[in-house]
Amino acid sequence: MDFKPVVEAFEQMEQTSSRLALTEFLVALLKKTPPVMIDKVTYLIQGKLYPDYEGIELGVAEKMVIRAIASSSGKDQPQIERIYQKTGDLGDAAGEAMKPKGQSTLFSEPMTVERVYSTFDRVARTAGSGSQETKLRLISSLLNDATVAEGRYIIKFVMGQLRLGIADYTVLDALAVAFTGDKANRQVLENAYNVSSDLGTVAKLVATKGLEAVRSIKITLFKPIRPMLAERITTSEEALERMEGKAAVEYKLDGERVQLHKGKNTVELFSRRLEKITSHYPDLEGAVKSIESEVILEGEVVAINSQTGEYLPFQELMHRRRKYGVEEAMENYPVAMNFFDVLYVDGKSKMELTYMERRKLLKKIIAGVKNDKVRLIEQTIATKPEEIDRFMAAAIENGCEGVMIKQMSSSYRAGARGYAWVKLKREYSNDLADTLDLVIVGALHGRGRRAGKYGALLLAAYDQKADMFQSVTKVGTGFTDVHLEQFYKELEQHVINRRHPRVETGMDMDAWFEPKMVIEVIASEITLSPSHAAALNALRPGYGLALRFPKFTGKIRDDKKPEDATSTEEIVTMYKRQLKVAGPSRTGAEEEG
Ligand code: AMP
Repeated sequence: MDFKPVVEAFEQMEQTSSRLALTEFLVALLKKTPPVMIDKVTYLIQGKLYPDYEGIELGVAEKMVIRAIASSSGKDQPQIERIYQKTGDLGDAAGEAMKPKGQSTLFSEPMTVERVYSTFDRVARTAGSGSQETKLRLISSLLNDATVAEGRYIIKFVMGQLRLGIADYTVLDALAVAFTGDKANRQVLENAYNVSSDLGTVAKLVATKGLEAVRSIKITLFKPIRPMLAERITTSEEALERMEGKAAVEYKLDGERVQLHKGKNTVELFSRRLEKITSHYPDLEGAVKSIESEVILEGEVVAINSQTGEYLPFQELMHRRRKYGVEEAMENYPVAMNFFDVLYVDGKSKMELTYMERRKLLKKIIAGVKNDKVRLIEQTIATKPEEIDRFMAAAIENGCEGVMIKQMSSSYRAGARGYAWVKLKREYSNDLADTLDLVIVGALHGRGRRAGKYGALLLAAYDQKADMFQSVTKVGTGFTDVHLEQFYKELEQHVINRRHPRVETGMDMDAWFEPKMVIEVIASEITLSPSHAAALNALRPGYGLALRFPKFTGKIRDDKKPEDATSTEEIVTMYKRQLKVAGPSRTGAEEEG
């Protein structure tokens, strides 16, 4: 397949701010793609070579890319650096530098998707001493034969800066339309994606074998399952109402969710975002060795106080996220894995079993493990609100965030947020009962002490139905100098030159970002807002919802994907609940006055 139609589609997608148009361009591209190439094209448009859980990255240093551009454009490195400074994007700089070049040379090899993909793949797999030089040669070989537009996207891809804004859900929609002719079939594709976490494979299957083949995709060891998620509620009464009077209540530990895959001799750990994090917790690999079966289990890894065995807060786990010195961190920051679910045993899915059946099975699996790093999460069965409240008080005393309440008859619903699991969190000392996890989508430049950094960030909630990020507040307090530095650096990687097509807001910003980074905030209340887009028109025509007195709590939620952020529906619920407590006349202005 020629690389040209892919590049043309990239150009169209880059220009649009409409999600609908994005889907249409994608459908057109998928239809043009030969079925055997569908998986590769699916990965490429998302800036990947493989599904996330493979953890394969190109690993190219910026300096090398500058050298590659210099050598194939016939300019010198300082020239390229100057253009780069002007454009702020190395792909655009490559395009600029290559401009006089026009078409590729007479003896060039044709630029096909196969060639581009396999070259990228070789770049990713080259490791060890001298690897940067090899990577440089590979990239140059592509650039030498590339047109200006092709060169631009080759470099953007290599630098991880292909910011087309194509979310998983957009791809699923486009696949349904392109290969089944009906968007409603997206659900079948989504189910397959939920148990495989591999869009490329799902795409290829539907393109080559049709919908029935997609229906039969099964859970496989070492392919992570997309996690089941919980809705939030605020009272134990509400929990029991939702669960028909009887429910399982578990400790909600404040750690990192981990999906453990254990084969005969291999163990892999996946984060909630389905990234491989086995290397963060080598001690856990050893701790589960004595489990005889091949299993997929879920649990929460929590840091513990080595003196007292007590649970410590989430932040303590940060010490484990490092490449070097893991041994030392294991000593100084011990952890325990607290299991709460089992999804697979010896070749068979257990997701269809009820919660109670899975819990019994889990207990049996863990019973044989004689290691204090492996625990079964505390649980009780409750039929009265007081029982939940008492269990919750004990959980909080033991360092938990609250409790998870689970429907006893429910199967495991991969990738879904629903009321089969609900979370009840402790009250915070601020006025709103709960924290919110929001996505950074824009920023204002700082002034004075914050000059050269961002002064305030625009945050958005996630609208699940529309698959859009809708602004809900600007936040400028709660940041230390260290945070300001860190945010500036991290956000730099996600800067785009206009509002992202999946972002809605009435606010004008100095900088825009791809929706990537999730942070936790608290606020005093939720008010109606004429300028924010969250829940626009849901409560009053022309108004959305906004946070009042928002403050960053210090927690960067890098365990959450942007789609895991607090939803606009949750914010509407929080708003209504606040009205119930305070009476319908309460507004921000009145309170302040
Ligand atoms: P939240 O991050 O507030 O949306 O809450 C959901 C998260 O709570 C999950 O992703 C887990 O990391 C964590 N968690 C802690 N304890 C449990 C439990 N017993 N069952 C399920 N999830 C739990």
